[in-house]
Amino acid sequence: MQLLEAKLHKIDRHNYRSYTSLRGEYHFVDYDFFIDTVQTDPFAPASRVRARRAWSLTDLEWLREKSPVYQRAARDFIARFFAELSQQDNAVLIDMPGQVILDRTAVMFDDEGIELRFRVNLPADGRTIIAKRTMNLLTFHLPKMIRRSTIARELPMDQLKAHCEAAEDQVALRAQLKEHKLLAFVADGSVLPRLAGNSDLPLPNAVPFMSPENLAVELEAPHKGKIRGMGIPEGITLIVGGGFHGKSTLLSAIERSVYDHIPGDGREYIVTNYNAAKIRAEDGRCVHNVDLSPYISNLPMGKDTTAFTSQNASGSTSQASWLQESIEAGAEALLIDEDTSASNFMIRDERMQALICKDDEPITPLVDRISLLRDQHDISVMLVMGGSGDYLDVADTVIQMHNYEAVDVTEKARDVVASHPTRRKAEGTEVIVRPRTRQVNRSALQSLLEEGKFRIQVKDKTSLRFGREYVDLQALEQVAHSSQLLAIGYLWFQLAQLKGWEKTPARAFANMLHDDWAAMMPKYGEMSKPRVIEVMAVLNRMRKAEFK
Ligand code: ADP
Ligand code: MG
Repeated sequence: MQLLEAKLHKIDRHNYRSYTSLRGEYHFVDYDFFIDTVQTDPFAPASRVRARRAWSLTDLEWLREKSPVYQRAARDFIARFFAELSQQDNAVLIDMPGQVILDRTAVMFDDEGIELRFRVNLPADGRTIIAKRTMNLLTFHLPKMIRRSTIARELPMDQLKAHCEAAEDQVALRAQLKEHKLLAFVADGSVLPRLAGNSDLPLPNAVPFMSPENLAVELEAPHKGKIRGMGIPEGITLIVGGGFHGKSTLLSAIERSVYDHIPGDGREYIVTNYNAAKIRAEDGRCVHNVDLSPYISNLPMGKDTTAFTSQNASGSTSQASWLQESIEAGAEALLIDEDTSASNFMIRDERMQALICKDDEPITPLVDRISLLRDQHDISVMLVMGGSGDYLDVADTVIQMHNYEAVDVTEKARDVVASHPTRRKAEGTEVIVRPRTRQVNRSALQSLLEEGKFRIQVKDKTSLRFGREYVDLQALEQVAHSSQLLAIGYLWFQLAQLKGWEKTPARAFANMLHDDWAAMMPKYGEMSKPRVIEVMAVLNRMRKAEFK
C-alpha cells in the first residue's frame, strides 16, 4: 500500500498517461491488489484490476469443502454482492449478473483464496491526475468494498446459502430428468411470465403454475425436499391453446431453464435438459456448408442442399440449418415456437399438397420428419403450435394452455385424430441421416484478428465483435448473459491459434469447457461459461467463417 501511495504521489498533477506506471502488484494489510492493465485516457475502457484475499482471512474456508456447484453459486453470489456495492461508486465496474447463476470469472476461488476481478475508472480532472482522489478510491473506498464482499461476517450469509442451495437443487433436479425420461420439469408454484419483453424479472401477481394431475411427477431436491410439478416427457410434445393463453411463456421459461435461476426468480424449480436448443427462423443469416437435404432439396436453379451455403438464407432454409447445426453441436432436444418459425418449414396442408405437387416444392415440412428425429436420433421436440392440427398425429403429449393453466389434452387429441383423420399425405423417405460433422478453418478465424485489429468485444447479448467481424446474435434466445459471449470470443481465439482445419469444433469446444475452463482464458472478470450449443451457434453466424 505504501508503494501505491508513493507511486501516486509521484504522478500527482501529471498527464493521464502517467497512470501506466501503476501497473503492478500491491500488498494491502489483508489482501493483494493487482493492476493488470491501465487505461491510457479517461474515456478508454476502464483499467483491469484484481483483489486476492487469503482464505484464512475470510472465514469462508468451509466453502472449499462444498460441491463444485455450491462453490460456483457462491462465486456468483459474491460477484452480485460486489456489483451491488459498486453501484454506489461509478468508478468501480463489475459485470452485473442477471437472473441466472453462472460460472463467472468475476469471482474465482483457488487453493490460496478468493479473487475478485473487476475494472476501475481511474479518476482525473480533465486529463490531469489528482493523486488525492485516486488515493481515496484505491486505498479507502475500494478496500471497504473488497472487505465487505469477502468476509463472512460482512456478507448476508443466509442469502448466500439460499443462493447456493437453490443452485444445488436445480442441478440435482436436472440430473433426475433422464431417469424419469423427461425433457423438462416445471414445479408447482413457479412463476413463468416476465415483467416485460425487455425485462427478465418475474411478473408480479402472475398466475402460479400448477401441474395437471396426469403429468404430475415428484422429484427430490437435496435442500427443498420433494417437489411436485409437471414432467414434460421426452418425445414429441405439443403446446396448444388459444392466442394469449400463455403458450410462448411456458416455452420461454423452459428454454431458459437449461440454466439455474436465482431464488425469487420464479423459475428456480424449473429445469430443462442442458442440451435443449431453441431454434427459429432467421432470414438473412449466413449458412456455411450445411446438409439440408432431409428438409430441403431441389432448390431452384439446381442449388445443392447437401452442402448448403448462403450469405442470405430464407426463413425456411435458416430454420432447417439451425436444426441441423444444433444436432451437430450435440443438442438432445429442440424447442420451437410457431411465433418465430417459418410456416412452410413447419407445415404443408392437404390442399397445398393438391395444388403444388411434391416435385415443385423443395421443402419437406418438419411434420413429416419429426417422428424420424425422435425414433432414429433420439431427439425430443417441444413445439408450440396453436395454428395447425397437423402435428396431432405425431405428438406423444399434448398440453393445452388455458388461462395460463396447463391442461393435459393428450387423450382428447387422440380422439380428434380418430374422428378427424388427416387427409394430407406423408412426405419424404423413411430415414434421415444425421447431419455430418463439419470441419472449421482455423486460419480463416485467425486472419480476422490480424492487421492490428485484435479486438474481442461484446455489446449486450446481441452482438460479438471478433477482430474485423461483427456477429449478429439477436436471434439467439438462450444466451443468458453477455459475459458468455465474451468467453465464446476467447474460446474461438484459442481455437484460431492453430493452423489448418479443426475436425470437430463442437468436440474441441466441449473439451475446452471442462470445469477448469477459465484457467486458459485471460484473467478478465467479464466472462462466464457458455454451452457448446451457443459456442457453435455463434461460430455458425460468423459470415467469414469457413467450414468444409
Ligand atoms: P401465447 O403464446 O399463448 O399467445 P403468451 O405466452 O405470449 O401467449 O402470453 C400472453 C401474455 O400473457 C403475455 O403478456 C404473458 O406475459 C402473459 N402471461 C403468461 N402467463 C401468465 C401467467 N401465468 N400469469 C399472468 N400472465 C401471464
Ligand atoms: Mg405465442
